[in-house]
Amino acid sequence: MWDTLPDAARSIVKELIIHGPQSRTALAKTLHLSTGSLTRLTKPLVDAGLLVERDVVHDPVNGRPTRPLDVAAAEHRFLGLKLTADRIHAVITGLRAEVIAAKDEPIDDHDPEAVCRQARRLLDELTGAPVVGAGVTIGGNGRAATQVGGELLVDAPYLGWHQVELRPLMERALGVPCAVTNDVAALAHQHHWFGPGRGLRDFALVTIGAGIGYALIQHDHLVAAAEADLGMFGHLVLDPGGPPCPEGHRGCPTAYLASRSVEMAAGLALRREVGYDEVMRLAASGERSCRTLVRESGRALGRLIALVATISLVKTVILAGEGVELARVAKDDLDAALTEHRRGLPGSVEVVIEDDDFREWARGGAVVAIQSFVTGSD
Ligand SMILES: [Zn+2]
Repeated sequence: MWDTLPDAARSIVKELIIHGPQSRTALAKTLHLSTGSLTRLTKPLVDAGLLVERDVVHDPVNGRPTRPLDVAAAEHRFLGLKLTADRIHAVITGLRAEVIAAKDEPIDDHDPEAVCRQARRLLDELTGAPVVGAGVTIGGNGRAATQVGGELLVDAPYLGWHQVELRPLMERALGVPCAVTNDVAALAHQHHWFGPGRGLRDFALVTIGAGIGYALIQHDHLVAAAEADLGMFGHLVLDPGGPPCPEGHRGCPTAYLASRSVEMAAGLALRREVGYDEVMRLAASGERSCRTLVRESGRALGRLIALVATISLVKTVILAGEGVELARVAKDDLDAALTEHRRGLPGSVEVVIEDDDFREWARGGAVVAIQSFVTGSD
């Protein structure tokens, strides 16, 4: 039934997932449908158990008692996976990307088929109930998944993978449809439907962590980009007199913000090995060399956000990723640099700093699976 569903019915499901339960009259108004068409379109979805009727309330449109429609969110489960160089992160979510169960563990064996078997084992451990679909996200430093002849071939050098046809392998192992996506793109989709980007037609996402990621939502759609182009974002020169990055040029976001760059610069100053989280703690507590370093990185981030907003014309920039604590510790410097590079106009860009929960990356995979289910696209 789901495969042959008309687009109007898909729009109803999407509206209910993103904006919550609504009366039939409110839904009809939002989607420019007659109440007759709405009833005709929703009946098979209610019969199939995808939509449910909630308890009687008074309709905000006409004041009559009504039973709002909602999606049966918890009854439809999705698997989200994120693969890093050494770990596999898995979450089970409902139809609104609410996390029902989560687990991460080391990757036993980097062979693609072995990783798919491990994903299947995690799925069976996390839920006894069947899942509707799955989504895998892969990324880190703008690395690659390329579309060739219709099938997505995954290049993931950190896993030792070159041109792996991951989707069919994963679908065989899991027994459900599986989407394979760049991790930053998946996170942008997640924020668009379920995060601070909900209801926004345009926003940018910048992720800070092992690498620097970028995604742009414009007119309600993710701007498609080649991996190679996305990889350039982390090496856009912000200050030619800035610190060096591993690729040998100076003052790029990678040099200022990537976890390893921050750790190395702090290590030189402190004359010992130091982890990223400790650098942030030391900077927050006022230790001089870490504080100076993190403040400089915060100013670079402010300048980067100003560039993103000015060129793409978005009014909201969301910051996420496991290194996002830097934006909180150096918030004053970030704001000052952002204002300075926006012609001195304070508050011209809203900066939203997200939690640095690593599960969010796997949740992005589940969101892509939910979106393919709802919109009927791959
Ligand atoms: Zn660079």
